[in-house]
Amino acid sequence: MDIAKVGVIGAGQMGNGIAHVFALAGYDVLMTDISQDALEKARQIIAGNLDRQVTRGRIDAAEKDAALARIDTTPSLKDLGPCDLVIEAATERETVKTAIFEDLVPHLAPHTILTSNTSSISITRLASRTDRPEKFMGFHFMNPVPVMQLVELIRGIATDEDTYQTLHAVVERLGKTSATAEDFPAFIVNRILMPMINEAVYTLYEGVGSVQSIDQAMKLGTNHPMGPLELADFIGLDTCLAIMNVLHDGLADTKYRPCPLLTKYVEAGWLGRKTQRGFYDYRGEVPVPTR
Ligand code: NAD
Repeated sequence: MDIAKVGVIGAGQMGNGIAHVFALAGYDVLMTDISQDALEKARQIIAGNLDRQVTRGRIDAAEKDAALARIDTTPSLKDLGPCDLVIEAATERETVKTAIFEDLVPHLAPHTILTSNTSSISITRLASRTDRPEKFMGFHFMNPVPVMQLVELIRGIATDEDTYQTLHAVVERLGKTSATAEDFPAFIVNRILMPMINEAVYTLYEGVGSVQSIDQAMKLGTNHPMGPLELADFIGLDTCLAIMNVLHDGLADTKYRPCPLLTKYVEAGWLGRKTQRGFYDYRGEVPVPTR
């Protein structure tokens, strides 16, 4: 199926990255969010990130201008109805996502493929809340979207072959690479990554190491580009906790128990970079560990 117009729901760090890469690949993008402020910020962030790509010689100024011109925003979910493909990238909470699908579905064209960028929630269950489980898929981009090569493709139990093949081709047109995962809690990347991050928080909680020593140890000791606590701040601690809860509930194994310290940070509203405080405080010139 030919995809020309793409709707993006949620203009946070993932939504704006997704809009960026689709516009650069020549798709028309319509982005929505419940927050007008988020929509305005997203446009500024996309423009800034495109500028950085121009400075680095990855794209030229004309490509940047053309990409920006292809991105439109709307406060109204129903305006996404005529899109060929819709990507939901709102907050990682099942009730938020199902409410969005229930509001959106009556306005969708029959051919529209509906996807979720969820990091962990059952695709089959989300699909069952729509009128088109055969045209529904998990479409999991990595953060930051313009930089990361991988897109995880997750079929629900009812997803048809055409939908899968269409999204597979879209990933290629974006210049990215897909990996296919079965629909089990947190799929592949987060099934492996999140328990490691959660274990790093336990290591901090139990006093085995400080924020700095844990991140230093994992960066230099395992050649990871970022330490696990730095990475957790980058992902968003609310998202990390939500994924651990999905693993814990979905697989019913105590090894996925979210660390109480992670819960405490989220309860404090210290969600990482997006709120300027998490395992590090980002309000000054350089990030300062908060423990
Ligand atoms: P974020 O907090 O940066 O952005 C979420 C956005 O959703 C906010 O702008 C919020 O206003 C908006 N939103 C909330 N309810 C909405 C509604 N009813 N309608 C429209 N918009 C609504 O979060 P994020 O990091 O961009 O994560 C978004 C999704 O992407 C989540 O499902 C998350 O699991 C997934 N994801 C995140 C990462 C990551 O590293 N952060 C990586 C891959 C996938």
